[in-house]
Amino acid sequence: MSRKFPRPIKRIVIKVGSSVIATYAMKPRVAHLRSLVRQIAAVERNGVEVVLVSSGAIVLGMGALGQRKRPTDLASLQALAAVGQAALMNRYTDLFRENKVKCAQVLLTWDDFNNRVRYNNARNTFQAILQRSVVPVVNENDTIATDEIKFGDNDKLSALVACLVQADLLLILSDVEGLFNLKDGKKELFQEIREITGDIESVAGGTDKKHMSRGGMTAKLDAIKIATQAQIPCVIANGESEDVLLRVLKGERIGTFFVEKEGKHLAKQHWISFGAKPKGVITVDDGAREALQKGGRSLLLPGVVSWEGHFGVDDVVVVYDKNKQEIARGLTNYSTVDLGKIQDKKGKPEVIHCDNLVLCER
Ligand code: GLU
Repeated sequence: MSRKFPRPIKRIVIKVGSSVIATYAMKPRVAHLRSLVRQIAAVERNGVEVVLVSSGAIVLGMGALGQRKRPTDLASLQALAAVGQAALMNRYTDLFRENKVKCAQVLLTWDDFNNRVRYNNARNTFQAILQRSVVPVVNENDTIATDEIKFGDNDKLSALVACLVQADLLLILSDVEGLFNLKDGKKELFQEIREITGDIESVAGGTDKKHMSRGGMTAKLDAIKIATQAQIPCVIANGESEDVLLRVLKGERIGTFFVEKEGKHLAKQHWISFGAKPKGVITVDDGAREALQKGGRSLLLPGVVSWEGHFGVDDVVVVYDKNKQEIARGLTNYSTVDLGKIQDKKGKPEVIHCDNLVLCER
């Protein structure tokens, strides 16, 4: 029986990891790339829009400059990415041209998601590129990204892009078949996962070649939680399997399929949960935790125990319980300075309104 997606796939985000793109000698795996691009072109001809999130800038930069060991300092990584990203795009442009398809480079940092205006701009940009039947090839802007504005890994970037363009499927191509159950010394591929529970995370295995990429299975699962929460189903499959993209789209049961969640977050809630980078933490007492977890309640000042960070009005903050467990995220009505001024006042000012508060489902 073939796999059923919740809706026809008209727009897909494909993420390819560095290990699929580059050899151990840090050179492009041309045969793989050629096969991937040929499949994307075939899919495009069938009217499916494709966004390709491609890693590989740093590893190809290392190859181009003959550097065997991945550096750890930011400046070196940025320089390597500058060299490698150009090599990567040249290669894609040539390969897409062989298939009579045009591609475009889109480089993003977390700021493009963090800031609502830039977020909307980015959405319009993707829309305009896709309307012209051009394939956006996306990567993190590693050359200018500092720790402050970094996603950290392209798995998360691909999930946020899938949400931004409202994709019908996120396909993560890695160098493993999918997610494996490694319980009790066996190794079994999970065919389908409805919910990424703590149990699944504890028995899950299968990682990329670590020296090349940032990700690993934990990063993939975190990314998948973001996408499935926005009702985007996901598949992790081996980028080296023949015709993997075409087979996944036909519903063939390869890789691991992650079913989308039912209750969709509104765009604003999703952005609060995943798009915005929190500016601080507010810790609450047990009474406030219980009230918030019932749902539909605002966070009131008497429940606030302490706060950290430097946040302003309308910034996203993480809400912790007293055990430092994240219970929610929300847009605060008060800055750090304001909270200091009102903390001894009587009454119950609303620190986070319930409409701007999203309970944690991570
Ligand atoms: N953006 C990085 C690159 O292109 C890859 C990050 C990752 O592997 O997740 O080299």
